Amino acid sequence: MADVRHPIHILGGGPAGLATAWYAQQHQVPFELFEAAPRVGGNCTTLNHQQFLFDSGAHRLHDKDLETTQMAQALLGDELEHIQVPSQIFREGKYIDFPLSPFNLLRYLGLGQFVAAGWQMVRNKLAQSATPENFQELAVSAYGKRIADLFLLHYTEKLWGKPADELSVEVAGKRLKGLNLKTFLLEVLRGTRQKTEHLDGAFYYPKYGIGSLFEAMQKQFDPAQVHLSEAITGIEHRDQRILGIATSQGRAIDVAQLVSSLPLGLLLQLLRPAPPEEVLQLARSIRFRNIVLVGFFLDKPSVNPNGSMYFPSSEFPFTRVYEPRNRSTAMAPEGKTSLIAEIPCQSDDLWWTQDASHTIQSIQNRLVAAGFFQPSEVIDAITHPITHAYPVLEKGYARKVQPLMQYLDQFENLHLTGRNGLFAYTHIHDHMQNGRQLVQKLLAGK
Ligand SMILES: Cc1cc2nc3c(=O)[nH]c(=O)nc-3n(C[C@H](O)[C@H](O)[C@H](O)COP(=O)(O)OP(=O)(O)OC[C@H]3O[C@@H](n4cnc5c(N)ncnc54)[C@H](O)[C@@H]3O)c2cc1C
Repeated sequence: MADVRHPIHILGGGPAGLATAWYAQQHQVPFELFEAAPRVGGNCTTLNHQQFLFDSGAHRLHDKDLETTQMAQALLGDELEHIQVPSQIFREGKYIDFPLSPFNLLRYLGLGQFVAAGWQMVRNKLAQSATPENFQELAVSAYGKRIADLFLLHYTEKLWGKPADELSVEVAGKRLKGLNLKTFLLEVLRGTRQKTEHLDGAFYYPKYGIGSLFEAMQKQFDPAQVHLSEAITGIEHRDQRILGIATSQGRAIDVAQLVSSLPLGLLLQLLRPAPPEEVLQLARSIRFRNIVLVGFFLDKPSVNPNGSMYFPSSEFPFTRVYEPRNRSTAMAPEGKTSLIAEIPCQSDDLWWTQDASHTIQSIQNRLVAAGFFQPSEVIDAITHPITHAYPVLEKGYARKVQPLMQYLDQFENLHLTGRNGLFAYTHIHDHMQNGRQLVQKLLAGK
């Protein structure tokens, strides 16, 4: 049993840190949470501009973990809506329904190309011998070169900023689940009403945006336990134990158990005494992807009914555009709507460094050319930077991450969680599950 006289210290107030705090509170374990930003939610926040609301990226609550869904229902009540909203892929001026299915592929490709692509898929499957070693091999072996080229490879390269043959198979996450040869053939036989399972358009969504879920969690905590605008600046250790943390407010605090959701590389760089140089070098070499959001606030009631639109071709710098009011009408004032584009990039890319007005103009030109709105309909436009959006899962990344985890493993009272803390492509429900398991582990004194 953890010594509950001492609080657990939690670093980071994103979904993973909050999940740990939530389960600590459920088990009457005291905690103190430190968040560098002036608000909770991390990369899962809802921002506002004039009377418009939009999320820090097109978020949805996947109904994958019953306890997470029930917690969200209990916190938000009627404000948590179960919605059904279509998504489409936009390519060469044409729309294709997403998730991809044989019927919408047939419509997009025409019979001749559809048969050729289907044959490639079957042939690849029959010829497949070795386990795919990178994302390109995985995508081509599952769908054939034609479909992979059209819809998966360029999209994935834009998202992660690396050639597809240099990316780990894990970047597929669970997105490719259900769209394999077996389900492809089953759909052909069963018809369109039997949808593939990998990403249908039904999900939970809070009326006032994804961030309202984490704000509702925060309201359940004693404000004295949540230290906002207080960044961790150092972590002191001795004899394989973490002893204390230093904060940007000049405080030095003793700790008994430390839970960190900070980006893995940053955590290692905060340790005092510093880890050996080879560990620090590895810590600096793991990479995270940024996203620039470009938002257009529009004087028109609707662009189209899609929840998300995906842009697989390299002619568009963005991977996805979403219309917040299609998730909840509360996201835009009556008679108006907005479009938010996501541009994945690194800190030294032009999209990250250039003046916002250039980015806005360049993205506006593309969206106007695609027919989504007219320049005269733009009330206002903004950019919003997001750091640490994704850990970059390049091929062989585990060879870098494993020694880092091994080094941190020596600290018996340090526990990691979160997307960037664990360097894993995880989602809200995963963080809730981790928080639950972590608190149970601490209670069991492990
Ligand atoms: C574009 C996009 C779309 C997404 N869509 C979905 C979706 O549809 N469904 C879903 O489930 N998930 C989605 N996700 C994933 C989800 O947003 C992340 O999994 C989640 O935000 C990770 O939570 P976290 O707490 O691990 O990290 P973060 O959200 O990054 O939080 C970490 C926190 O640590 C704080 N911090 C950093 N340094 C310090 C320091 N020195 N001291 C104190 N605090 C510090 C940061 O300010 C931040 O608040 C999406 C992510 C992106 C980027």
